Amino acid sequence: MVRRNVNFTRLHPVYLFADIAKQKAAFLLKNPHAQLISLGIGDTTEPIVQTVDQKLVEKAQALGTMRGYSGYGPEQGDPLLREKIALAAGVKPEEVFVSDGSKCDIGRLQHLFGTGLKVAVQDPTYPAYVDNSIIGGSSEIIYLACQPENGFFPEIEKAPPFDLLYFCSPNNPTGAVATHAQLERLVKEVKCRGAILLFDAAYSRYIQDPTLPRSIFEIAGAREVAIELGSFSKIAGFTGVRLGWTIVPEELHYEEGGSVRADWQRIATTCFNGASNIAQAGGVAVLEPQGLQEVELQIAFYLENASLLKDAFEKSGFTVYGGGNAPYLWIHFPGRSSWEVFEELLEKAHIVTTPGVGFGPAGEGFVRVSPYGHRSHILEAIQRIGRFVNKSASMKN
Ligand code: PLP
Repeated sequence: MVRRNVNFTRLHPVYLFADIAKQKAAFLLKNPHAQLISLGIGDTTEPIVQTVDQKLVEKAQALGTMRGYSGYGPEQGDPLLREKIALAAGVKPEEVFVSDGSKCDIGRLQHLFGTGLKVAVQDPTYPAYVDNSIIGGSSEIIYLACQPENGFFPEIEKAPPFDLLYFCSPNNPTGAVATHAQLERLVKEVKCRGAILLFDAAYSRYIQDPTLPRSIFEIAGAREVAIELGSFSKIAGFTGVRLGWTIVPEELHYEEGGSVRADWQRIATTCFNGASNIAQAGGVAVLEPQGLQEVELQIAFYLENASLLKDAFEKSGFTVYGGGNAPYLWIHFPGRSSWEVFEELLEKAHIVTTPGVGFGPAGEGFVRVSPYGHRSHILEAIQRIGRFVNKSASMKN
């Protein structure tokens, strides 16, 4: 018999969102008529904007014609799309690798670095960094606490030794956005330790404040130490279409001097056969002026949802972080367990959230609220929050 990859025994038995789906299903079994509102998983809800949808349809139709059919494309992605992503990020097209989504690239990154590495993450953190690192055989996960007390930015200079650092800004789940000065500290520290920074910019287009950095490559010296992950999921509603990218700069080298970019190119050709050509046609349309204008309106819509929810929780007396330049709200329930608050909101207000502790130990006492929802659902959720808080003395902090 084949032995199980022993690393699976080191994982939390259930992925966070599978756990929540289980709880939701159990609740609905007991309360089949409940009208649940999901502010839990960060999945987009609004239709793909018109210009982009049209391009997806055109490409799909062209594939059904002799002239328009094409098979495998370049594994690194459509040259036009690479060029557009590169232009927006201020990098070279040959440093951009188009993918079927950034979570898939987070998985494939494991092939790049091998086993036995020490991996540092923000705490709380997007769980895919931790789980993929564990499955890939990293020797240790180092949690760097990000809490209100430190402005959700870790004391990076005091962190124990690490080889890789995952950093997400705007952050999922806290909604914190790092400043130029903070990212300069990260780059400096990563460089001085000979480590690599894996910068997740999946929510970069939610940044409205022009003084905040949207890319790690806005920081001097980042090209020698960082890889950046990007995604069309939350900027263009491509969570189901599947399209993302990874930027690996030419200046990034291993300790021995070899090119990280060359190995990532090898992984793209060996473990991946390129993103869907239909999705890539949609990606090109997103990055054209009309597409950008339409997706920016959609982002503004989600940010307005976040702002309405933030107001509602604040009016009810809670301390709320995030929103503004990030989609997620991170709501503090001091002294209470996240799962307990999750259950109370589910049972009494029929609202699904995400328990903060599911993102890491420093998430205890918080729940994450997602702004992805139709406006009518968001307004209904706000009504329920008001009614529920008035009735429930235990919710007050
Ligand atoms: N990175 C972060 C921080 C995310 O929150 C998500 C999805 O929620 C992803 C990556 C995955 O994005 P994709 O849909 O491109 O795989």
